[in-house]
Amino acid sequence: MANRSRSAKAFAEAKQLIPGGVNSPVRAFQGVGGEPVYFQSGDGAWVTDIDGNRYIDYVGSWGCMILGHSAREVREALTSQAEQAVGFGAPTLLETALASKLVSRVPGMETVRLVNSGTEATMSALRLARGFTGRDLVAKFKGCYHGHVDALLLDAGSGVLTLGIPGSPGVPEGVVNDTLNLEFNDRSELEQAFEIHGEQIAAVIIEPIAGNMGCIRADASFLKQLRTLATDHGALLIFDEVISGFRVAPGGAASAYGVVPDLTTLGKIIGGGLPIGAFGGRRDVMEALAPQGPVYQAGTLSGNPMAAAAGLAVLTTLETPGFYERLEIRTKQLAEGLKRCALESGVSVQINHACGMIGLFFTDRNGVCNYNDVTASDVNQYAGFFHAMLERGVYLAPSAFETMFVSAAHGEAEINATLSAATESFAELARR
Ligand code: PLP
Repeated sequence: MANRSRSAKAFAEAKQLIPGGVNSPVRAFQGVGGEPVYFQSGDGAWVTDIDGNRYIDYVGSWGCMILGHSAREVREALTSQAEQAVGFGAPTLLETALASKLVSRVPGMETVRLVNSGTEATMSALRLARGFTGRDLVAKFKGCYHGHVDALLLDAGSGVLTLGIPGSPGVPEGVVNDTLNLEFNDRSELEQAFEIHGEQIAAVIIEPIAGNMGCIRADASFLKQLRTLATDHGALLIFDEVISGFRVAPGGAASAYGVVPDLTTLGKIIGGGLPIGAFGGRRDVMEALAPQGPVYQAGTLSGNPMAAAAGLAVLTTLETPGFYERLEIRTKQLAEGLKRCALESGVSVQINHACGMIGLFFTDRNGVCNYNDVTASDVNQYAGFFHAMLERGVYLAPSAFETMFVSAAHGEAEINATLSAATESFAELARR
């Protein structure tokens, strides 16, 4: 067994000072057992922990690291920016440059506001939608996570699901009374919800390619129906592309599906690993935001030059011809390889994938397409697989409900090494 004594000591110390020892619940190993690994450095697809163990990383800062760790472009942008200034709280050219990249790529995004996290983006988009429409109700889908926004914590996938809590104490009942919690990919429930509540719905928010219950694509017909129903009832459609934005395609899931939302939320990749978020969309809607309009939203560090510089460096690199095609090929290679390894060992798995994302589910169901399917998968088997892979130098998300993130730095060698580790790990599971 790998020596992780320094990580163990670091966690014991952190627990004295930080609730649960972590600054975000998904970092704890509650979903898989054991204790978190403390990392020190990253290089491409690889990370090194404080005990000196190396791993191929499929967490990638939860999707931020599409170029891999410590990419040259990001390092150079950050160094150069740090030499000038790390922040002013006043406008900079970088913000406009980043906004221009976002607006040029994301379907329907006419203007955009930068914030500091995905949660801030979704929270602000909801407030804006409510302010613009003058309505209170919002609809979301089970298994989609939109940050720890009070109104959206119901059946919120990944982190919340891992801990086995359906919502959260501290969220007033009145807040969630205005939230409809619908089944992902269920066309008849969606139609019914609009039939009953259509005129009161301010917004429907969805991860068009869900990354918080493994990886599950919305059916194209479901998304098209959602677009039509929202338009017909005067509700705003919000695509939460905090994960899928700039990952599944240059224009995110919206461009892949050809469905244009009214508002889009972004995060992760657009900050190159630094704290960032963004929400944007229809000009007439965005004009309702302060200082132009009455809907208040603000942030001391919003559009911070360090985050904007790192994000710009990443988005510029993503424009390299063939980038997404190569990432798609690697992802498919890994997804199909994992399926093959599991089959050969006699372990039942289902695997969904999109460019740069893989959902691995321990289940014998024929297809995983909603929250019910995900929650029926075997979390104990995932935990066993997770630890078997960790011992073999592959770092997966410490939860059965997260996506595996593949980056541009995962080359042939890393994919092959991962598949060798997976062959042994599935075989170990099969022997139990
Ligand atoms: N939306 C989605 C789809 C996410 O996956 C996340 C975080 O994982 C968020 C919103 C919240 O982003 P953040 O953690 O930056 O607040």
